[in-house]
Amino acid sequence: MGFLWELFQQRRLAEANNKAADAQQAARSAESLASRFDGQIRQLEQENDRLTLAVMAIAEILREQFHVSQDAIEAKMRDIDIRDGALDGKVKRSGKLCGACQRVNGSKRTACLYCGESLPTNSFLFPGS
Ligand SMILES: [Zn+2]
Repeated sequence: MGFLWELFQQRRLAEANNKAADAQQAARSAESLASRFDGQIRQLEQENDRLTLAVMAIAEILREQFHVSQDAIEAKMRDIDIRDGALDGKVKRSGKLCGACQRVNGSKRTACLYCGESLPTNSFLFPGS
């Protein structure tokens, strides 16, 4: 009886050790994932800063040198926003450029939203998309 009990206890101990090792492995994986996300977030923040600077520069040049109004810029932003079919403040980077009217259409469109021209199956503006 004592021997069996000891075997049982050893088995339980081994199981507990395995679970602890699994938990440690899971924690290490989560840590590595979190660190990778941290890096990606920092990279996105840097890109966002660069884009913000570029937009501010362009907006100031447009206002100061070409007297383009804030309303005109916002109207153009909405115009570009809706091109992918949703006025959602997001830009789909994969688009198709219409050869006839030079406007960008959503990547899934087969005909131009603006002029009805057939669109290429692959975008040359965004190759590989
Ligand atoms: Zn067109």
